Amino acid sequence: MEKEAAILMAASFGLALLIGTLAARSIGRPVLQLVDSTQRLSQGELGHRIDLDRRDEIGQLATSFNEMARSLKASYEGLEQQVEQKTADLKDALDQVSRISELKSRFVSDVSHELKTPLTSIQGYAETLLRLRDKISEAQQLDCARTIGEESGRLTRLIDNLLDLSHIEAGTMRLERGPLSLVEVAQETVHALQIQAFEKQIVLSLSTPETLPPILGDRDAIRRVLDNLVHNAIKYTSPEGRVSVTLECMATHVKTSVFDTGVGISPENLERIFDRFFWIKTPGVQASGTGLGLSIVRSIVEELGGEVSATSQPGKGSVFCFTLPAQPLQDMVRGPQKTHTRRG
Ligand code: ADP
Repeated sequence: MEKEAAILMAASFGLALLIGTLAARSIGRPVLQLVDSTQRLSQGELGHRIDLDRRDEIGQLATSFNEMARSLKASYEGLEQQVEQKTADLKDALDQVSRISELKSRFVSDVSHELKTPLTSIQGYAETLLRLRDKISEAQQLDCARTIGEESGRLTRLIDNLLDLSHIEAGTMRLERGPLSLVEVAQETVHALQIQAFEKQIVLSLSTPETLPPILGDRDAIRRVLDNLVHNAIKYTSPEGRVSVTLECMATHVKTSVFDTGVGISPENLERIFDRFFWIKTPGVQASGTGLGLSIVRSIVEELGGEVSATSQPGKGSVFCFTLPAQPLQDMVRGPQKTHTRRG
């Protein structure tokens, strides 16, 4: 009897051990797997998943773990994309800052150079006059004085242009936006420059359509634009050439074109023609420019809501065009309303 009881106890103990071992395996292994997966996830292995096909609580835990890992990976990738985008934006901004700073340094060095050239010339001729006035002829003295006068004029023009340009670009130049007749401004310009054209035996003409809507702009500034373009056209055209100004109506703008039969501009120079201080030494043309005229033209036209462009055929001539907004028809019906904007 005792023996039987002992066998039964041993069998029960063995069974309990077996059940315990099996239970430990079925729970312990997946728990260890979960612990291992959590560690791998915390070390950055975001693609790691638990491979457990169970429908009990441990299976649910594994599914939740996998879902958490998946959403963690998605947010991490989203964050990574955002960081990449922000880094690219920051790089663009830095590039722009360095471009602006480069432009600024170039501008300062260009301005210094442009100021120094006439000043050196003035100083040289003034010293010659002072030191050698008894040794040089009256004609030579006059020549020195004339050069001093011309170089001073160049200096004044340069400073005026620089001031204008900085006002336009800083938005502190007061530009009217009132309706005005471009025909009148073009007539005034052509009339004023007729003498200059006549002296060079250049035919200067103006052609306008029968009707043209008023444009919205500033009379003095537009006069400046036209003066610059027509003056350049005469300057870079040989005697007996032609310069013509034409006005035409586009859909919402009025287009002005200044044609000349002058020296023309090469394609590589044409690309930079509106840049500040861009200046080409043209044989036979007196070196009196500052290379700021066309950049002022562009700044004024763009400030008034128009566009500038240039085409040219070297040796044959050039065409400089600009557009300005026309007064809308409904505003014309309502009557004239003079407006201006002051910025800065
Ligand atoms: P500047 O005041 O020195 O004349 P601009 O900005 O007006 O400067 O002109 C820049 C350069 O463009 C000039 O040096 C000249 O070579 C060229 N240019 C301008 N207009 C014409 C033109 N109508 N024909 C040929 N070249 C021109």
